[in-house]
Amino acid sequence: MKKIQMVDLKSQYQDIQEDVDNAVLDVVSSTAYINGPEVKNFQSELEKYLDVDHVIPCANGTDALQVAMMALGLKPGDEVITANFTYVATAEVIALLQLKPVLVDVLPDTFDIDVQALEKAITPKTKAIVPVHLFGQCANMEAIMDLAKKYNLFVVEDTAQAIGSDYIFKDGSQKKAGTIGTIGCTSFFPSKNLGCYGDGGAIFTNNDVLAAKLRKIANHGQSVQYVHDEVGVNSRLDSIQAAILRIKLRQLDSYNKARNIAAAKYSEAFKNHPKIVTPVKASYSTHVFHQYTLKLINSNRDALRQHLTDNNIPSGIYYPIPLHLQKAYTDPRYNSGDFPVTEDLCETVISLPMHTELDDEQIDFITKTVLDFIDD
Ligand SMILES: *Cc1c(COP(=O)(O)O)cnc(C)c1O
Repeated sequence: MKKIQMVDLKSQYQDIQEDVDNAVLDVVSSTAYINGPEVKNFQSELEKYLDVDHVIPCANGTDALQVAMMALGLKPGDEVITANFTYVATAEVIALLQLKPVLVDVLPDTFDIDVQALEKAITPKTKAIVPVHLFGQCANMEAIMDLAKKYNLFVVEDTAQAIGSDYIFKDGSQKKAGTIGTIGCTSFFPSKNLGCYGDGGAIFTNNDVLAAKLRKIANHGQSVQYVHDEVGVNSRLDSIQAAILRIKLRQLDSYNKARNIAAAKYSEAFKNHPKIVTPVKASYSTHVFHQYTLKLINSNRDALRQHLTDNNIPSGIYYPIPLHLQKAYTDPRYNSGDFPVTEDLCETVISLPMHTELDDEQIDFITKTVLDFIDD
């Protein structure tokens, strides 16, 4: 059996090696390393894939969120609501821009932001909502957009984990994750569903004025060369990464399909188990399984992880500590016990290996090893 990895980037590379090697060498010999044609080509191909008017490539997913929030013209002290159960980057940029992160609990089944709790958290100071499409499926965007309209708020979608997934509206129509709110943000970190071979990110919008502003902020606030209208940042996707992303974008749907097949096999093996809750699919989203995350009931998670490690199976805990209990984000408003769902998830979730190259032998071995321990 092939060695089991959390993410198997090597086998995935070997599958597209010739194309990737040629594309990278072409960029190297072209010397168009920054803002070369590969970046523009990738940009327009991603616009087409997502069916969105503007894609602004940038240096990473955290920058995408930062540039997005800078472009909205928020002022220090403005409140921005996000989910407590997420990667730190989502809240980090809010705090970094001296905005006030307002945390909201998530739903126990889909792990999406709890829209009822979200509405309760809205105050006259609230300016934006940052829903996170966690683990590969969309948050309840239709309900979130209704609230945004009612309270006149911006919506910045964090779709770093869900690129390629579709939001399904009540009328049956669909839109790609990240193209529904005011702005969408994603990451091309190597282990993401659309990953490059270094750092990368992108911002999406259908608003022409915002697109120009986002582009300007990502480029030192510059309108014309050496003319700086506002304080910006330097955040670029480099041409080598763009060339790799063009090749991988063509595979994205089949990559996401491979993840779904692996997830279905896992879920079948754990079906109706009294101590294992398999991922719950929301009615309003397709899933691209950035992570395959189980919730354990009355089981010793640390001992299970040790048992997996002893059998050379990696696993992950996303996320072990809620944001409000992180030292950097402690706030007198929040205490232990304030976010019961997030706090419970941080203690009971475990993510199994999930990538595009998992084979049946590996999945069987992983599920048997989990069940051996749980049923013991
Ligand atoms: C990965 C990730 C980010 C940050 O992306 P980087 O490219 O690593 O900066 C932001 N939000 C979420 C939810 C992520 O998973």
